[in-house]
Amino acid sequence: MIEFNDVTFRYGSHGVALERVDLRFAAGEFAFITGPSGAGKSTLLKLLYAAQRPSAGDVTIEGRSVGRLHPRSVPFLRRNLGVVFQDFKLLPRRTLLENVSLPLEVCGLKRAVVLDKATAALKKVGLGRDGDRLPGELSGGEQQRVAIARAIANTPSILLADEPTGNLDEGLSHEIFELLAGLQTSEGATVLTATHDLAEVARWPFRHIRLRDGRVEDDRPLRDLALPSAGPVVPFDVGEDP
Ligand code: ADP
Repeated sequence: MIEFNDVTFRYGSHGVALERVDLRFAAGEFAFITGPSGAGKSTLLKLLYAAQRPSAGDVTIEGRSVGRLHPRSVPFLRRNLGVVFQDFKLLPRRTLLENVSLPLEVCGLKRAVVLDKATAALKKVGLGRDGDRLPGELSGGEQQRVAIARAIANTPSILLADEPTGNLDEGLSHEIFELLAGLQTSEGATVLTATHDLAEVARWPFRHIRLRDGRVEDDRPLRDLALPSAGPVVPFDVGEDP
């Protein structure tokens, strides 16, 4: 469970990026976060991976405060949390396998384990045979797949995506959301994704939180796509038009 309890984030002396936000996300939930530019979407995610600290209120994961996490514990938080950005952030001179391996190496995992996990992650995103290639040889959509592989390589329980399709064409965007939705189902991960792509959001039944000026403007729950059980379509005789 992720909880935002009355969270405010201020910058400078006047600016407010988030104001008194209360949100809960169940483990394994998928949620879209939308809103105009400057609404506070990135800030919401940054508070979760401890790149920002709340000015007031607290953010907790499984009951543990992220807002008050000791700086020494931040790397441990990040091991259990994958983040995907709009601009991929891949190292251009490293192969795909090396890009995906690097954060695992930083965690101090053994070489053989790193190789296993990185290979498995590339396979999950459909690039299992491409480990030796360089990012520059790939399309934007494929590069984002590598970034997702890197984010999930250590099987985190939470995956955060900040405008993951911001640099991609429409068709590729849909593929990326399919991949994220698939990971939520197959890995049981909680997936929170900020996006401005409302057409794509409308294609999915997932929870949709809309921010505006740092506040939660709307919070639509997961749509139940189950159809009503078969029964009489017209329950009573409406008669004929006169
Ligand atoms: P979004 O992701 O929805 O575009 P952000 O969370 O990036 O919105 O930003 C929300 C608002 O807070 C914006 O007006 C942004 O300029 C401002 N902001 C956030 N963090 C800082 C910061 N550290 N310094 C200055 N302004 C910031």
